[in-house]
Formats: sequence, C-alpha cells, structure tokens
Amino acid sequence: RSDARSGNQSDSAGTDSGQAGLVVNFMSVHLVKHQPGVIGVLDLQGGVHEHLEHLERLGLPYKRVKQVSDFADLIGLIIPGGESTCLARLLTIFDLKDVILHHYHRGMKIWGTCAGAILLADKIVGDQSCLRLIDIAIERNSFGSQLDSFTTEARVPAVSDQTIPLIFIRAPKILSAGKDVKVLLQMDDYIAAAENDGILVTVFHPELTGCLAFHRYFGLKCGLDLAVENVSAGNQDWKNVSWMKLARIAS
Ligand code: GLN
Repeated sequence: RSDARSGNQSDSAGTDSGQAGLVVNFMSVHLVKHQPGVIGVLDLQGGVHEHLEHLERLGLPYKRVKQVSDFADLIGLIIPGGESTCLARLLTIFDLKDVILHHYHRGMKIWGTCAGAILLADKIVGDQSCLRLIDIAIERNSFGSQLDSFTTEARVPAVSDQTIPLIFIRAPKILSAGKDVKVLLQMDDYIAAAENDGILVTVFHPELTGCLAFHRYFGLKCGLDLAVENVSAGNQDWKNVSWMKLARIAS
C-alpha cells in the first residue's frame, strides 16, 4: 500500500473541500480551514515517522516525499535528523538536490532538524556543503559521540511562550550565522535554532518530544492556518512511541 497521504486533506474532516472541517483530537476542538498545500517529510533515511506524527497531531496536511514527482504540491519540506553523509549520498543517487532547490526558489519552505540542518548549511566545518540554503557555519558531532547525547529545555520566545524540551543526539553546533539569519535560540557557545525567510534549522529534535511548538511554528512559516494554541497540552497523553503507528514495520 502507498503510505503517502496528504494528512487530513482527504479524511472525514473534509479539509480538501474548501470548507471548514471539524477536527477533534485530545488537545482541543478546532476548525481547520482549507489549506493551500502539503508539508512533505523527506523519506530517505532518519526520523521520518516522528515528524509525520507531529504534523498529524496538529491536523496539518502531510505526506512522505521520496521522488521528484512528490514535490509538486509542497508548501514545506522537513529534512529529518539521521546521518547527513548518508542523506547527502541518497539525495545525489535519487537526483533530488535540483528538485529541492527548484521548489525552494518557487517558495517552498524547508526545515532541517539536526542532520537536515547540516545539509542546509552554507558551510560545514571540514566537510563539503550540500544544499547551501542558509548562511550558517555548522560543525558535525560537535558535542562528541552518541554517548554525549543529552536533553535539556529552553525558552524560544519567537516559537512559543512555553518552555520547550530539547533533545540533542550526536548533534552539530551552529558556530556562526550571517546577517540575514535570525537566531531563534542561542545556547552557551553555539546557536541551536535559526532561520531565514525560507529556511528553519534546529540542531535538536522537536519530533522526539511531545511538544508541538516547532511543528506549529513551521506550519505558520509555510502559510498554513493553525488553530492550536496550546502546543504542549498533549504532553501527558503523548508517548515517545506514538509515531510507531506511522512506521512501516514488517510483520
Ligand atoms: N551526527 C549526525 C550527522 O552528522 C546528525 C545526528 C542527528 O541527526 N541526530 O549527520
């Protein structure tokens, strides 16, 4: 079966009809208006399902993106965390670099988490850059090995008025940002989240926590109409395996 679906676009909420539909979930009852396009999650390698699940919880139209023909209706693309060297090779093998650049230049917004942020950076310390869409210098594995992964939390005023939980997994550090880049979260000696007009980068993983703040923020950046106000209200109900229902696991 094809797992590519446009989120709630064709479900009983009737959001593809151009009419407002009623979506009921554990957070709230809210109206979802007709949305102008879909947010894609690049489905080559890495944390794909976790992002899909967050988009679903927000009631946003979403789909997996694997090939050139998947891009036509995208207003946003999430490049997930994973392994940036592997992702960069797969982008080349499947000939997806040019199509990403083409759709970016026609207005598609892009959010890179962790490895995704590395692929979007203008400069990767000691390495060849990939898409070069945001003027940042980033250093891979900058905290050490996988064992140096950690969790913390922070306020990111531009994104939410609530404290946001942060998970860093063999994360990079953004070491510097150009003048056209807005720093969203400055930590000790590094930048953890930043954006320009078309690109959002986070070196941590919002998709691995119950918090929806960054997904909501990206949805707004893509021009979607979001009625959910309380982005962390679902935390009590959310489990870190909630994304499993979207995973293709062979039985
Ligand atoms: N260390 C990985 C890399 O350099 C990124 C890890 C992640 O995405 N969590 O690509």
